[in-house]
Amino acid sequence: MRQIIAIYPGSFDPVTNGHLDLIRRGCQLFDQLIVAIARNPEKESSFFTLDERMAMLQAMTAELENVMVDAFEGLLMNYCIEKRANAVLRGIRAVSDYEFELQMALMNRKIEPSVETVFMMPGEKYSYLSSRIVREIALLGGPLTGLVPEFVEKQLRRKVAERRAAADAIPTK
Ligand code: ADP
Repeated sequence: MRQIIAIYPGSFDPVTNGHLDLIRRGCQLFDQLIVAIARNPEKESSFFTLDERMAMLQAMTAELENVMVDAFEGLLMNYCIEKRANAVLRGIRAVSDYEFELQMALMNRKIEPSVETVFMMPGEKYSYLSSRIVREIALLGGPLTGLVPEFVEKQLRRKVAERRAAADAIPTK
């Protein structure tokens, strides 16, 4: 029987409840769902390291049997071929996501016509949620309840404290 393997690519810096909502929806639709962290060696400006992002995603998806966490570099369509994936899962939160996602999906189709992009909408309460906004709230010491799992919240608080300590350690003249 034909297996549908889907890749859910993103930066997951860090994984939010919106990403997890999409992962739960996706794993009911696909035989296998590979959550793939895009590594970008030229732009190593991520908040969490690749290992940290991977560990958080693995911990948060451990109970989902058909979900795997991985990382990839380079063209997404090459990675899809390598994994024998026939679909890419992407989330659409608001109209603002649509233009960029449409361009990406059509370009990916041009590169590899056998891979279909599937869009899913998260629950409404996650439609305003992004990793960027979560990082900003964490840096400003705001509440993160309901936006990320408790485990991720702890990692965010730790990271912010580490950053503060590193900044304080820089001698000022
Ligand atoms: P972000 O935009 O939060 O930095 P990523 O680059 O990790 O996220 O995004 C990976 C995919 O997850 C994209 O398709 C993005 O639209 C989707 N996504 C991100 N946040 C949400 C959310 N709150 N609800 C649904 N999809 C989301």
